[in-house]
Amino acid sequence: MVDSVTSVFDELVAAGPPDAGTPLFDTACVLGGSVAGLLAARVLSDHARRVVVVERDNLDGAVAIRAGVPQVQQVHALVPAGLQWIERWLPGFTQDAQDKGAVLGAPAQVLITHDGSYRPSGSVAHSLLTAGRPFLEARLREAVTALPNVSVLRARVAGLEYRDDAVSAVRYVGDEPGVLAADFVVDAMGRGSRLAKWLEQDGFDKPAVERLQSPINYATALFERPERAVDLEVSTALGTFTPQYGADGVSIATVSAVEDEQWIVMLVGFGEDRPGATTDEFRKVCAGMPQIWREATKGAVTRDVVTYRQADSRRRDFVGANRLPARLVAVGDAVASFNPIYGQGMSSAALHASCLSRYLVGGHRFDSPATAFFDLQQVVVDAAWAVSAGGDTARLDALNGTDVPEDVRRRRWALEQIMTAAMSDSTVAQAFNNVSFMLRHPDTLADPALLERAVAVIKRQL
Ligand SMILES: Cc1cc2nc3c(=O)[nH]c(=O)nc-3n(C[C@H](O)[C@H](O)[C@H](O)COP(=O)(O)OP(=O)(O)OC[C@H]3O[C@@H](n4cnc5c(N)ncnc54)[C@H](O)[C@@H]3O)c2cc1C
Repeated sequence: MVDSVTSVFDELVAAGPPDAGTPLFDTACVLGGSVAGLLAARVLSDHARRVVVVERDNLDGAVAIRAGVPQVQQVHALVPAGLQWIERWLPGFTQDAQDKGAVLGAPAQVLITHDGSYRPSGSVAHSLLTAGRPFLEARLREAVTALPNVSVLRARVAGLEYRDDAVSAVRYVGDEPGVLAADFVVDAMGRGSRLAKWLEQDGFDKPAVERLQSPINYATALFERPERAVDLEVSTALGTFTPQYGADGVSIATVSAVEDEQWIVMLVGFGEDRPGATTDEFRKVCAGMPQIWREATKGAVTRDVVTYRQADSRRRDFVGANRLPARLVAVGDAVASFNPIYGQGMSSAALHASCLSRYLVGGHRFDSPATAFFDLQQVVVDAAWAVSAGGDTARLDALNGTDVPEDVRRRRWALEQIMTAAMSDSTVAQAFNNVSFMLRHPDTLADPALLERAVAVIKRQL
């Protein structure tokens, strides 16, 4: 790739719909109708006469809590790269979500704390839209299925069919078994996608899986919020805690104002730390945390604590697979799913959709594998992986006393300086947030001037 990864990343973040869609396909089929599938369907709607999203769950009802996406009851932060992408491709999304109860918090309403100390105001430069995950998904589904050429077929996808080494149809089991002829297929079946297995069975390469063990335990509950959204001093807060702070095994906690005048509150512990499994425990832990957590958990419980454990981050290497069928790509968690605490999943899916758009307008031939798509997507996957897996390996190495190579040690030291300085310097904080918010590539943090500034900030505090 000639362009640097940072400039490719910038272009993917800024991508908007084409001025005029090029008609490429009669039928495009998206497997899985969750966030990644819906965003891919939006892109395909500019290039296919019809787009059929095949989803096994019943999506009727405004706000579905469903078996196919067990994580939906946990906090889902839509970081700015994702929100901006959605607003560009589905104009009016933010206002519609707000009209229905989501909260758009101004930068001054976003609070970041570490062991109870607060980051300076001005360290966050973007507004954050906060809402429950089922609510966000329902709004997306309404917007995408309102497009005249997008429809949803309720069925379980059971496999693919091929002609001349290109995908030609999707086999499914709905009310009855059926086959849907398709000119282009997108796998958006999430972390548990069976695509790799089907490819192997059908004589193609199975993309290798890389896993990073990093057990993480979520506990999330909802509470009544007496204040109206406009009266809120804080609309969302993120707290990180070291064991010295004594937050009963909580390493990370968030609280956000969401629809129906509620607070959604999340506690996270790593490894064997499983904080707050009952409402009483949950409130007890929050009582020892900064004020916003104490306030938010005072109201009546509107949804009891739900816990969730994820054992690992994983990604599938489509670039390294030599023999793939043509007319097939994969997006979202089906390709890479990270330690969720970094809030990258939905926004990664948005950037994968940008890759799809760029591939479709790129004049590529569809009689060979979508190598150009997967190369582009790897830029996004590598960037998200660097943030999440980088943080996890550093934590695990420190925990296990692992001897790490000098260059890794140096990179980690630099990141530590930036994170420490971000607690008191808004320029460093904004550069760090831009990466956390997936607006800039993590390599931008390696800028020597930024590191120099971070070191100077820390020195002044000594
Ligand atoms: C605890 C937790 C917290 C998270 N927090 C955040 C966060 O704060 N911010 C963020 O951006 N992301 C977060 N994520 C990640 C986020 O949930 C996903 O990245 C996001 O849902 C996009 O995933 P997806 O659409 O690729 O897959 P999924 O959401 O898993 O959806 C896959 C879809 O495919 C369907 N499907 C599967 N198999 C078949 C089949 N055979 N036939 C038909 N349909 C099928 C499923 O029913 C489902 O609808 C979190 C994840 C977890 C686990």
